[in-house]
Amino acid sequence: MGVDMLHKPSSELNLVPFVSVDDMMKIVLDIGVENMLMGICDYLEEDFKRWELFDKTPRVASHSNEGVIELMPTSDGEVYGFKYVNGHPKNTKEGLQTVTAFGVLADVDTGYPVLLSEMTILTALRTAATSAMAAKYLMPKGSKTMAMIGNGAQSEFQALAFKSICGIENIRLYDTDSAASDKCIRNLDGCGLSIVKCDSEQLAVEGAEIITTCTADKQYATILTDNMVGSGVHINAIGGDCPGKTELHKDILLRSDIFVEYPPQTRIEGEIQQLEDDYPVKELWQVMTGDVEGRTNEKQITLFDGVGFAIEDFSALRYLLDQLKDTGRYQDLDMVADPDDPRDLFGMILREEQRQKREGA
Ligand code: NAD
Repeated sequence: MGVDMLHKPSSELNLVPFVSVDDMMKIVLDIGVENMLMGICDYLEEDFKRWELFDKTPRVASHSNEGVIELMPTSDGEVYGFKYVNGHPKNTKEGLQTVTAFGVLADVDTGYPVLLSEMTILTALRTAATSAMAAKYLMPKGSKTMAMIGNGAQSEFQALAFKSICGIENIRLYDTDSAASDKCIRNLDGCGLSIVKCDSEQLAVEGAEIITTCTADKQYATILTDNMVGSGVHINAIGGDCPGKTELHKDILLRSDIFVEYPPQTRIEGEIQQLEDDYPVKELWQVMTGDVEGRTNEKQITLFDGVGFAIEDFSALRYLLDQLKDTGRYQDLDMVADPDDPRDLFGMILREEQRQKREGA
């Protein structure tokens, strides 16, 4: 059984480890946010380098006027995983998160689930680790300064991933809601980054070698116009991740070398939905395996059009499962019906009825 990483006896395989939000917060604190980002990045690198092995499909999206609910499945032949995730930009006004998620890993051999986890926090960690991993391959050498436009839920994770994985030292913040930037500054206090709050996108990008856009708006927005983007920068655009929801002016795309996760999904959801269906893009995994060139010169604008792909969630869940033995931060969920005789599912209910009668319940 390839994925029983907790080495349970077969009599306990009906009990599925469940990582709650409370467990996840404790795991992050036990391991440390930056260590966890680097750990997830290592798992991502492993999985991106064996990309061809995986089942891949654009995520299955159910759109509504206010948002989207999506399922993101994949498998490497031994382990199957999926994430449930929503995206509802109007939620924050009602005191709710824009993005929430949970995910499952299962053993392909038996089909039994081996992990159920909250993934709202884990998604922020994996998104930041993926962004920083892409930047490691594409950013100008020795980059020290990143502009971050959109300072909501993802922002601190992004800042810390770029610090620990790419060596970024300075962050220049801009958000249309100045309270969001203030929150980001408070949360990152003492983390070793030098942080400046800016009054406009234009000011935020000044002197930055990397520009991250992580805003949330259900429209074709123009967070960056062409004149704001100087030659040689790396753009990490993660907020445009849905049909009809983009962040960059089309002219920026036409000046950039564009790197994506899985083209069939990114053409539906990413910045490149603004371009022709056959517009040439490069796949990040091929840059990582050395099959495709990443940054080739200092003047080149590289754009990671990140929408979030199922394999990244798979890597994050795989990392998490490997941490459970040491941290012990999970509860066993009685999630799989387990009759003594596998064909006697109905009899299991009858035996429960008899037990209740005996005990007068
Ligand atoms: P959030 O709602 O918590 O934060 C978004 C922030 O953007 C808010 O503070 C808002 O004030 C700001 N904003 C909106 N319009 C702006 C503009 N024009 N200029 C500057 N700031 C602006 O959302 P979040 O959870 O941080 O997510 C950010 C975006 O990232 C969302 O669009 C989400 O769908 C996307 N996302 C992408 C991935 C991925 O893998 N690519 C993963 C998670 C989230």
